[in-house]
Amino acid sequence: MIDLHCHSHFSDGTLSPTALLAKALEANIRILALTDHDTTAGLAELHAMAKGHAISIVNGIEFSTRWKKYDIHVLGLQVDPEHLGLQALIEQQNTNRVARAVQIGDRLAELGIADTFAKSCVIAGHERVGRPHFAQALINEGVVPDMRSAFKRYLGRGKKGYVPTPWLDLETATCGIKAAGGQAVLAHPLKYALTNLKLNELIRAFKMAGGDGLEVISGEMTSLQIQCMADFCARYALLASSGSDYHGDNMSRIALGRQARLPVNCTPIWHQWDC
Ligand code: MN
Ligand code: MN
Ligand code: MN
Repeated sequence: MIDLHCHSHFSDGTLSPTALLAKALEANIRILALTDHDTTAGLAELHAMAKGHAISIVNGIEFSTRWKKYDIHVLGLQVDPEHLGLQALIEQQNTNRVARAVQIGDRLAELGIADTFAKSCVIAGHERVGRPHFAQALINEGVVPDMRSAFKRYLGRGKKGYVPTPWLDLETATCGIKAAGGQAVLAHPLKYALTNLKLNELIRAFKMAGGDGLEVISGEMTSLQIQCMADFCARYALLASSGSDYHGDNMSRIALGRQARLPVNCTPIWHQWDC
């Protein structure tokens, strides 16, 4: 099994890298990329724990980026976490993320729900909180029954607690990943709810920016969706990646490494790797 997209509690996952590794070993995963949102901070712990086990750890990251009016996620795989340019991008993202979280907290306070920023920070264990942390805070306060209604009523685009973030643009993130020795992969192409025409435009823009691969399989997908992503790979000469986007057992539909196999007409991105 191979899983090139998952999260630890260094971003919005529920598990520590140590617990994540235990899950990965249990699932017989042989290549695992930790791709926390805008941080590489969990990698050291994961590497340390993986020592002596039959598993290859891939240094990854998931950058939130802006393309036109859309929030698009770009994975960096095989990046050098020490690269200064990469760390500068991460710092820039974090500054923007914290500023946005404070604003979300202010918006919710205006609606009469106090202290959600502080509460989200406690839930996350850090202040680089995202909307899932706010959703959990709203659940804990009894404001909403579940994640879905938190987004539907407060945190989703266009809702009263929604604050857009000035993320890095798609090109900057892609170039930054490549400068850090990594490969850039467009994450979960079907999650942006784009028309086929727009999606085609996005993938072309990503390729032009130097993108290397497409996440042909992300979590649960139908075979038709998978084939459609494989066709995009062929059209734009992109490598194929596969990941569960696992955030924890209570937060993800599928378990670590449990996604479907890549279609045979794809070139897996890991085929060029030394692991
Ligand atoms: Mn996430
Ligand atoms: Mn994502
Ligand atoms: Mn993700």
